[in-house]
Amino acid sequence: MDFERTFEPATIEARWYAHWLTLGVFTARPGSPLPPFSMVIPPPNVTGRLHMGHALNNTLQDILARWRRMKGDDVLWLPGTDHAGIATQMVVDRQIAAEGLSREAMGREAFVERVWKWREEYGGAIIAQLKRLGCSCDWTRERFTMDPGLSRAVREAFVRLYEAGLVYRDKFIVNWCPRCRTAISDLEVIPQETHGHLYTLRYPFAAGKGGIEVATTRPETMLGDTGVAVHPDDERYRGAVGRTVVLPLVGRELPIVADRFVDTEFGTGAVKITPAHDANDFEVARRAGLPPLVVMDEQGRMNDNVPEKYRGLDRFEARRLVIEDLKAGGYLVAVKDHVHNVGRCQRCDTVVEPYLSTQWFVRVKPLAEEAVQAVADGRVRFVPPHWVNSYNEWMGKMHDWCVSRQLWWGHQIPAWHCTRCAEIHVARSAPRACRRCGGTGLRQDPDVLDTWFSSGLWPFSTLGWPDGTPELKRYYPTTVLVTGFDILFFWVCRMMMLGLHFMKEVPFHRVCITGLVRDAEGQKMSKTRGNVVDPLDLIDRYGADALRFTLAAMATPGSDLPLSEERMAGYRAFANKIWNAARFVLLNLGGETMSQTPPALPPRPALRLEDRWIVSRLQRLSASVDERLREFRFDETANALYQFLWHEYCDWYLEMAKPRLLPGAPPGETARTRAVLLHVLDAVLRLLHPVMPFLTEDLWQRLPHEGETIALSPYPGHDPAWVDDGAEREVETLMEVVVKVRNIRAELNIDPARRLPLRYVAHSAGARATIAGNASVIAALARLESVEEAADPPAPGPAARAVASGVDLAVPLEGVIDIEAEKRRLLREIDKLSKESESHARKLQSADFLSKARPEVVDKSRRIHQELVERIGRLSQTIESLG
Ligand SMILES: [Zn+2]
Ligand SMILES: [Zn+2]
Repeated sequence: MDFERTFEPATIEARWYAHWLTLGVFTARPGSPLPPFSMVIPPPNVTGRLHMGHALNNTLQDILARWRRMKGDDVLWLPGTDHAGIATQMVVDRQIAAEGLSREAMGREAFVERVWKWREEYGGAIIAQLKRLGCSCDWTRERFTMDPGLSRAVREAFVRLYEAGLVYRDKFIVNWCPRCRTAISDLEVIPQETHGHLYTLRYPFAAGKGGIEVATTRPETMLGDTGVAVHPDDERYRGAVGRTVVLPLVGRELPIVADRFVDTEFGTGAVKITPAHDANDFEVARRAGLPPLVVMDEQGRMNDNVPEKYRGLDRFEARRLVIEDLKAGGYLVAVKDHVHNVGRCQRCDTVVEPYLSTQWFVRVKPLAEEAVQAVADGRVRFVPPHWVNSYNEWMGKMHDWCVSRQLWWGHQIPAWHCTRCAEIHVARSAPRACRRCGGTGLRQDPDVLDTWFSSGLWPFSTLGWPDGTPELKRYYPTTVLVTGFDILFFWVCRMMMLGLHFMKEVPFHRVCITGLVRDAEGQKMSKTRGNVVDPLDLIDRYGADALRFTLAAMATPGSDLPLSEERMAGYRAFANKIWNAARFVLLNLGGETMSQTPPALPPRPALRLEDRWIVSRLQRLSASVDERLREFRFDETANALYQFLWHEYCDWYLEMAKPRLLPGAPPGETARTRAVLLHVLDAVLRLLHPVMPFLTEDLWQRLPHEGETIALSPYPGHDPAWVDDGAEREVETLMEVVVKVRNIRAELNIDPARRLPLRYVAHSAGARATIAGNASVIAALARLESVEEAADPPAPGPAARAVASGVDLAVPLEGVIDIEAEKRRLLREIDKLSKESESHARKLQSADFLSKARPEVVDKSRRIHQELVERIGRLSQTIESLG
């Protein structure tokens, strides 16, 4: 048979993926009578490259999809990408800048065309990467947030929200990025602790002597002040309210107003009011009737509303000059060092400017209330559940959602402004004439919608909404959403609000939230640290299966994943181990076993103890895997499969079975052994398939099988009739005896090839029967020449002794080793270990060491000390038993 010696993932991955696509394995069947199971992929940015977060998230989704498919569900895992407004626009901006072009010079239409062209060329990269990971998405239904269907859904949603009074347009302070030149959401503003200054300025009264002092961290904004506010109860300013001050450098008179918002403890208790450049000031100004004055342009340069000498200056240059001039004029009272948070743009790291502009908003409160209710009454459950607290907290404090962005790439807002009378028409398509004045000059609003607006509709827009398609009826609400915690607020909250509003149903029943993949030391991966790991590189080096297995094994709910290459190398070794085991089984099959049907078990009475044991363990495994996957315990699933395959199947069962495959064994025994080996291998490959799809497909194809792919073979069920507690207990005893003999060998440096005599005293009839009935198995595994029951004590002379449950064991050593020489060697060993142990003991008693060393160093020393003490104890016992 053609069966390569080593497993080479690269040679099989592409082949099997193509096989699955050809068979249409991943395609959902809305017309089928099978129960539906549906998920939507968190759409990666079309500009994106697969990172470890994607790899984790999509591995877990794929495990669920493959598992449910094999369980007999009609699985829809719907894939797609997000148009990623700012990110994509920036990529194309850079590309055209390299050609000496600019967006402005090109014009909107040409630019948008250019972005589409870019998407044609590069937008498929991340999809190809998902395929390399093995993702079983239904690619026939791949969507893009800008495709015609989804764009129609976006327009429909916006218009309906507007008609329901849930969308409005207003002047408001937004987070403005002067570099990206657009409004950004609260979540895209990253606060950064900054060492800055607090400036105290003096504004003289317009009439009379004296003045009022105000403090600010952004002195350049004083050019846009239109008032000063104090707290109405502040005694210090009792007489000041109603008077005016003169704004230095500008000369404008500013009224002093009272407002309860003012914090009497901050600075002097009087604050300058810059309504167009501060969200709080904007509110105060509204209450007090102070006019807003915008003093910067969209790029953060001072505009024509400031004195001429500052015009055109960048805000930070203007700051320097304003400070200089204030100082020269005697208006700068104090400058103090001041540590405070400065918000920076998540995309470009530019300091965000609070900026007054006219924007479109979604009224969040009524939507959020419903979304909170749906979680409170259990219609949506979070895994792990503690995320509910963050969710509720976030929903509770969410501001109205600014959904307009000053970009060109995205869904242009379906609102038309009348150029004659300024009437605004929100509509599904461009109106012919103004409903108010009849004018035909109608201009579409230039802004586009926040990317999260379209991705908030994703679970139903991708299924055909607003049309009531069969897919929408069948797959919505989706079964589960698997996503990273970092987009819980950006995305999950929005889908909840919009899904409930438009569909009157939650978008998903469960939300499974994954942790963060960190580096081996537990550090966050970042470009600046240079510790970013590329999943494609890992696939090249370890294979997609090993990467997937590593991620699954580490995906403990509620914890981050410190990704070590050591661990991944360990799982690559695991893949090799399975490969070798399967190779052994197949090479040892007689021709008659290779009939083209899945391997069945021989009748139970014909089976030996170890056969009944491995089949019983398999039954427990299949029950546990199913239960663990239902609870999204990917880690426990992976670990259970690992334990079973590596230890129970390969290390124990294969070894127990080997003698029965040898030429001299009775033919009936050989045939039964082959059947059990094959049956268990086939079942465990199917159990493992969702986690390691490529390896399992490749091996399954070599086994006798029915059907064209393991991916559509039934997932092994649990048959309690095959659970055999008695067999499990007995084999545990056998294993214990074998391990004890192996330990004796290791302790006494006995040549592994040397066959030893074993004598035992059984303390129960059960133990006696187990050992006597399986003496040949024990002898084979522990390399014994004899297994004999003896009188108590089992060996009167020098012997190595051990105790297993219900049995005393002895290996007589006369003639096996030079007893006196061995005693001397052991004494020297004890001596050496004692010195090491004492040195650790001294360290652990030293107050100096305990207080100065890092906790993990102290722990390590304590652990080593403990191990040494135990080892010395074992060696002393061995010497004693030698007589
Ligand atoms: Zn920016
Ligand atoms: Zn009009």
